[in-house]
Amino acid sequence: MKALGIGLIGTGYMGKCHALAWNNVSTVFGDVERPRLVHLAEANAGLAASRAREFGFARSTADWRDLLSDPEIDVVSVTTPNQFHAEMAIAALEAGKHVWCEKPMAPAFADAERMLAAQRASGKVAVMGYNYIQNPVMRHIRLLLDEGRIGTVNHVRIEMDEDFMADPDVPFYWKSEASSGYGALDDFAVHPLSLLWSLFGHVEAVIASLAKPYAERPLKEGGRRAVENHDIASVLMRLPGGISGVLMSNRSAWGRKGRIALQIYGSKGSILYDQERMNEFQLYTTEGRATEQGFSTVLTAPHHRPYDRFIPAPGHGLGFNDLKVIECRELIAAIAGMASHSIDFNHGLRIEQSVHAMARSFREGRWVEIASA
Ligand code: NAD
Repeated sequence: MKALGIGLIGTGYMGKCHALAWNNVSTVFGDVERPRLVHLAEANAGLAASRAREFGFARSTADWRDLLSDPEIDVVSVTTPNQFHAEMAIAALEAGKHVWCEKPMAPAFADAERMLAAQRASGKVAVMGYNYIQNPVMRHIRLLLDEGRIGTVNHVRIEMDEDFMADPDVPFYWKSEASSGYGALDDFAVHPLSLLWSLFGHVEAVIASLAKPYAERPLKEGGRRAVENHDIASVLMRLPGGISGVLMSNRSAWGRKGRIALQIYGSKGSILYDQERMNEFQLYTTEGRATEQGFSTVLTAPHHRPYDRFIPAPGHGLGFNDLKVIECRELIAAIAGMASHSIDFNHGLRIEQSVHAMARSFREGRWVEIASA
């Protein structure tokens, strides 16, 4: 496959992660042509120009629509705040570009549906930025489940917590606006849902409670503004196969920096994992003598593929940005028509459906069934 031409919209936290991935994917994997970093868009021309220099892009613009008419661009990375995803991804698909879009798809379900419709009409590849499913640990957990190492799974708990909004004095910004979505659901719960999908399939039914630790936040320019969404979500779920599930997410949890803690309980054992210690997992099985049973901690190593592509030494560890490089490799595989472990807009929409079902469940105070597509 020829070298892909890359366009990037947004150069904040995630924009830099995408740029690092596009810069590193061929160095890490070796079997893909080095992408050409063609054109980058930011909110103003000065910032766009300096980011293009730093990230290695040939051109920059303050108008993201310039990327659509650029014939050298094959793929557009959309890394802007949530409320821009639908407009930008749809326009890129209609312009004949493949799309790599950050999560979630869009705050409004109808917009997410339009994104999927645009992808189908274009015939182009469109995948979401659900990086955590790319951890080699997750792939190994999936193997353990498929092999029945912990028997029949009956209960799963997953918690995602960070503390970037724990301080009541954190100024109001776009993540507290209703236009960005439901907060703890779109911003956080979608990641645990991506992991649950990769291990068990899509959630079938939910009952949720949402909470707002702080009713208002200070404005940078002075004064205060009411918080428009919820930082905390607590959800009970029914997963495929009748597995009982619990999902908790909290953006205001002091001390939690990047926690995505997964507990899987089966008839013959248990598996534990936490993204804060992303290079290990714990396994308990009923195999062997009862006198020696206990959780064993397994460190990742080259045999947990594709760890081997990054580093030949076991136990040295991958990082968050490495997951983005793997995600990028999977996107390139999809564009080449090969099997790809990624969440396309079709599965992305199912995740959005689950999030909206949780919000509805909270509003109506009841279990909500999630129709299969
Ligand atoms: P950010 O605020 O750090 O960056 C957003 C960037 O987009 C800013 O530089 C901003 O100037 C730019 N921008 C805004 N409007 C623009 C426009 N019209 N044209 C060009 N650029 C524009 O935000 P972030 O934390 O990087 O979040 C961006 C997206 O990434 C969100 O959807 C968020 O949910 C997602 N995200 C994903 C993960 C993950 O683990 N996959 C982690 C964090 C954020």
